[in-house]
Amino acid sequence: MKIGFVGLGIMGKPMSKNLLKAGYKIVAYDVVTAALDEVVAAGAEKGASPKDVAARAEGVVVTMLPNSPHVKTVCLGKDGIIEGAKPGTLIVDMSSIAPLASQEVAKALKEKGIEMIDAPVSGGEPKAIDGSLAIMVGGKEEHFNKVKDMLLKMGSSAVLCGDIGAGNVTKLANQICVALNIAGMSEAYVLATKAGVDPQKVFDAIKGGLAGSTVLNAKSPMVLEGNYKPGFRIELHIKDLQNALDTAHELGVPIPLTAGVMEMFQALRVDGKAKDDHGGLIQFYEKAAGVKVRKK
Ligand code: NAD
Repeated sequence: MKIGFVGLGIMGKPMSKNLLKAGYKIVAYDVVTAALDEVVAAGAEKGASPKDVAARAEGVVVTMLPNSPHVKTVCLGKDGIIEGAKPGTLIVDMSSIAPLASQEVAKALKEKGIEMIDAPVSGGEPKAIDGSLAIMVGGKEEHFNKVKDMLLKMGSSAVLCGDIGAGNVTKLANQICVALNIAGMSEAYVLATKAGVDPQKVFDAIKGGLAGSTVLNAKSPMVLEGNYKPGFRIELHIKDLQNALDTAHELGVPIPLTAGVMEMFQALRVDGKAKDDHGGLIQFYEKAAGVKVRKK
């Protein structure tokens, strides 16, 4: 099977390379030539546009793009997938976008006989590289079954959560949990540091207890060295929290803690830190408390 792949950024690049390693043929495209050339050097065919990729793919096109407007452009815009895909083609959108946008794009594609599932991921660049992403899917079961084996070449789990949009609802839930975990970790380490306790010792002491978490294990080694190299950029987490706030407000669900973390991310964006890793949230607390959190 030849898979179309559009969007070769921090995540799409290693994900497409894992499909190549697993023996799939790929026709790829990205607006950034250097990214496309790197995936072509790894064995993919070079596509000229999303339309071209869709025309040359055999049944499945994966998209891994920043946000809803990019997915709309790539799927429905000029030289978009909709212009090249044969009826029956399945679009697997693995970007994290607004659930409502997934439903809108799927509806427009369906009018041309093109199917879609939303399949956003969690795990970040390290898990994209080692093929162990957690994949959360929305769509029809028959479409999920068609690509489940392929998804499991990029991830270690793929769960069908409901109909189209349910993958992105699940991803919003994931992003709320991650953001609040990072904020909790940041408050704790700033408090410990100002109280004169080595935050590395705090991490070592609490990671095996109830406060332990995947977030704590992944982010503590970074923040204790002042390393904010992304990973997952603050600007992308702002995008996800905005999608969470919009979706929640539309449904009549107040999410005050998410709103609080959003404002901290906004302050960091104004401070020129939008491209830092989201673990860099701790810089908001460091500034407020006048300390730097570093292991001793
Ligand atoms: P990225 O910005 O590194 O990559 C996006 C790619 O899409 C870029 O290479 C860009 O050139 C390309 N692109 C944008 N518009 C395009 C167009 N019109 N045609 C073709 N290519 C286009 O982002 P990323 O970190 O790879 O994230 C992708 C998605 O995955 C986002 O929705 C993000 O929220 C989600 N995600 C990221 C991480 C992470 O840790 N980076 C983790 C989980 C989920």
